[in-house]
Amino acid sequence: MTLIQLRRAQAPANTLSDLRFAVITRGACRNAPDPDAWFPDEPAPTGDPALDLIERAVHEEHARTLCDGCPVRALCLELALHEERNLQRSEIHGVRGGKTARQRWNIRRGRRQAAVRQARKAA
Ligand code: SF4
Repeated sequence: MTLIQLRRAQAPANTLSDLRFAVITRGACRNAPDPDAWFPDEPAPTGDPALDLIERAVHEEHARTLCDGCPVRALCLELALHEERNLQRSEIHGVRGGKTARQRWNIRRGRRQAAVRQARKAA
């Protein structure tokens, strides 16, 4: 049994360390020649806000396509949502789990709102 197989066998399912281990050992980006591709620099402002948005979308779309087919995409997204849960919007960068920073922010906001609605229903 390899060390990885042993670690998998010993780890309880769905813990945070499981998520980290899965992403680190099985993520498609782990041996990428350009790890910065998932965290591209912000494009230099052109002076045209519409063009800036398009530039950013192109960079993000490239990074998102790199996540397509990653075997741990869903786990990676859950890990990112957990690790970023206490950050401000401006502190969240890059593409993780196939989602941009803005998409992850919106997912978290949606989950928070759903939790509040459920709590109100239960009260
Ligand atoms: S989903 Fe994307 S960022 Fe996450 S491990 Fe896979 S390739 Fe890397």
